[in-house]
Amino acid sequence: MTLSSQNFDVIIAGAGIAGCSAANIIAKNGYRVALIDALPESKIGMKVCGDGVALHDFYESNIHPPTKKEIEREVDEIKFFTNSQTHIFSIMGKGLTVNRYHFGQRLLKDAQDQGAQLFSKRLVTSALLSNGKVLGINTKQKENKTFFKAPITFDATGIVASVRTSLPSTLYINESVNAFDTGIGYREYRQLDKSFGNFCAIYYNWDVSHGGYCWIIPKRDNLVNTGILIPSSRNVDANFLKNRFSSFLKINTHLKKSKCLKSEIGLVPLRHPLLNAVSDGLISIGDSAFHTNPLNGYGIGPAMLSAKIAAETAMFCLEKNKFSRDDLWKFNYDYMLKCGKRYTTNKIMKDFIQTLNRVEAEHFFKSLGIKKYYKSGNFIKELSNPDKIKLLYSLSKRRSLFNNFLKLIIKIKSVSSHCDKYPKSSLKYNIWLNELTNKF
Ligand SMILES: Cc1cc2nc3c(=O)[nH]c(=O)nc-3n(C[C@H](O)[C@H](O)[C@H](O)COP(=O)(O)OP(=O)(O)OC[C@H]3O[C@@H](n4cnc5c(N)ncnc54)[C@H](O)[C@@H]3O)c2cc1C
Repeated sequence: MTLSSQNFDVIIAGAGIAGCSAANIIAKNGYRVALIDALPESKIGMKVCGDGVALHDFYESNIHPPTKKEIEREVDEIKFFTNSQTHIFSIMGKGLTVNRYHFGQRLLKDAQDQGAQLFSKRLVTSALLSNGKVLGINTKQKENKTFFKAPITFDATGIVASVRTSLPSTLYINESVNAFDTGIGYREYRQLDKSFGNFCAIYYNWDVSHGGYCWIIPKRDNLVNTGILIPSSRNVDANFLKNRFSSFLKINTHLKKSKCLKSEIGLVPLRHPLLNAVSDGLISIGDSAFHTNPLNGYGIGPAMLSAKIAAETAMFCLEKNKFSRDDLWKFNYDYMLKCGKRYTTNKIMKDFIQTLNRVEAEHFFKSLGIKKYYKSGNFIKELSNPDKIKLLYSLSKRRSLFNNFLKLIIKIKSVSSHCDKYPKSSLKYNIWLNELTNKF
């Protein structure tokens, strides 16, 4: 079977959070949308995840917040702990832990209700390319090969980025992710003997999760989503992760008497977003464009926001009937200013944290505890001047940590102001990128 170009205005490869969110907005505005996923329809939404999401991200992306069946727990706080499990500081704010499956199914239903057409059980194999332009995608269903055509294609296939990575390197957006810039997570659903509080818990313990963290996120009743996320490397496999996680189980008082109901492994990008996520006829969104917070792998909010920005860009281009890289560039610019800048600088912070040894890491996190309650993850920005002095004083007790921290702040400031100058057109991108590379 062959579907011709007349059929669709936009093809969306991947019906995860990013794909369904984008499909919903575009279809709602009367455009013909094809949403394509490798999973059967009944399995869409199943994903290894911590299930935590900040409430404000739904409002910023114009996505209806989860309803009763999708909500597992309302939380008010993320509490951070060190090795000894002492509370160091908290980020305050309303959040939800979701039933990822019900939430994913609802996003899919919303998109379908708006008129998006789902093609499930269909593997996207590559971009359909002609003279350097993306004209759609190639797909496979058992022995059946089909291509879908539209003036704009979205790659929303998650970390595998099946469309974007099939492009030749001359198109600049086929960048792959280094192992070290990927987080590998092992997650268990556990039944506790009593209910966990209405907060998410993050544990920094370099003996257990060097360069990463363990988490406990409360679900309904006595159930929790708990796991370990560390930078991927050659030595890290499922057994390694399970062993590390079992040492966390032994020392965590909440989990000591708990029972494992289910366990899974998943990957998440932990790097800065793709600095250019568009090509002629293609926009990459969500995990496929590394739209996550590199400090912790938080990706639901960024996926929804990048979907909204991409949908607006696509509709703007459909109005003008222009689909070149330069026409789609608006997506890069808007995403960079909305949250790309923050996640680019967070990548520098993440690299810094990963170089710390156990003693330095504990000292660094405890020093951030100079302020007990933060409103966001912008720790340094939120400190008053006297608190900044206290932080520097505390860090100065470890000379190399202190020196590296000063270098980090200078680098973050320099990269942040460079991100503010992100070019409005693709023509000046290479100059901008070279300057950024020098700063990195
Ligand atoms: C262990 C772990 C814990 C996490 N915890 C959190 C958390 O607590 N909070 C949070 O916000 N984020 C968390 N994340 C990240 C979050 O889950 C992702 O960032 C988010 O799901 C990205 O959404 P997406 O739509 O881009 O990709 P995905 O959700 O991965 O969706 C991609 C879709 O594309 C489909 N697909 C893939 N390849 C193909 C192909 N070739 N052909 C057709 N279809 C294809 C898939 O079936 C899937 O439906 C976590 C991730 C991991 C791994």
